[in-house]
Amino acid sequence: VKDSGKNDCLLYSEAWDNSSLERLTLQHELKGAIQRGEFVLHYQPQYHLGTGKIVGVEALVRWQHPERGLVPPGFFIPQAEESGMIMQIGDWVLEEACRQNKAWQEDGLRHIPVSVNLSIRQFLQQNLTDKVANILARTGLKAEFLDLEITETMTMDVKHASRCLLDLTKLGVNISIDDFGTGYSSFHYLKNLPIGRLKIDRSFVRDIQQDPGDAAIVAAIIAMAHNLNLQVIAEGVENEVQMQFLQKHMCDEMQGYLWSPPVSGGKIAELLQARQQ
Ligand code: C2E
Ligand code: CA
Ligand code: CA
Ligand code: CA
Repeated sequence: VKDSGKNDCLLYSEAWDNSSLERLTLQHELKGAIQRGEFVLHYQPQYHLGTGKIVGVEALVRWQHPERGLVPPGFFIPQAEESGMIMQIGDWVLEEACRQNKAWQEDGLRHIPVSVNLSIRQFLQQNLTDKVANILARTGLKAEFLDLEITETMTMDVKHASRCLLDLTKLGVNISIDDFGTGYSSFHYLKNLPIGRLKIDRSFVRDIQQDPGDAAIVAAIIAMAHNLNLQVIAEGVENEVQMQFLQKHMCDEMQGYLWSPPVSGGKIAELLQARQQ
């Protein structure tokens, strides 16, 4: 299993199938991973489409497994959510992302927000705002440099969502709606909740060139976002044609393999440095 390379993905997807025994094994291993601190964050830059500047980074968790190598979140986040362990992992992610962002700032790099993905369980906990406030205080990061990504589904409980999001935005944190267009389809919440940004799901971006329906959806999301005074970012941008389409339709920001995959914190510092001159 030491052999690391292209086959890594196969190894763990086979090792952890959906049988209940494998799920128990994974759950047990996850518990150990939390105790041993085996998680790491990678960061994917978000670029301004007009200037090409890095205007933010998204923190994406990975599990540095002693034998299996770097395990992507798709293999353990669903199980962590199911078992509740996402709470501990999520707390760590939030604190680590804030700590790292503050460290970049102290190294003299240009100040940019870091985006952190919240799971539904984290979003539903009673003391989320206090937790976020405490983490900001502990790390010394200003709230304006933290962006929280939630999904449309999390806004379904409108009462909870509006109270929670109002509290968070009062702190000064920005809220983005992740995977926009794939979830709950009522637009009611868009005008009533304090949301700052929509992230167009990559499934729409992927087929912009071949599928006129997807192209129309992307154009419509951008126009709607702007009419509601929201920022809009496209995710999963992989080629020039997609980028040109987004530019033509005045999308604000993009994130995707075309300009950078998720990379280590050290690499982000290099990228920010290179773009500072
Ligand atoms: P997401 O939030 O939609 O994150 C974007 C995913 O798309 C990332 O996968 C990223 O590596 C990938 N991606 C970025 N650019 C491209 C591109 O151009 N093409 C393609 N095909 N993919 C691209 P990753 O890192 O494997 O994360 C998968 C999902 O795991 C995330 O989807 C998010 O839902 C979840 N996740 C990751 N980190 C966390 C976390 O700290 N907490 C929680 N609750 N969920 C997380
Ligand atoms: Ca995300
Ligand atoms: Ca997304
Ligand atoms: Ca997604």
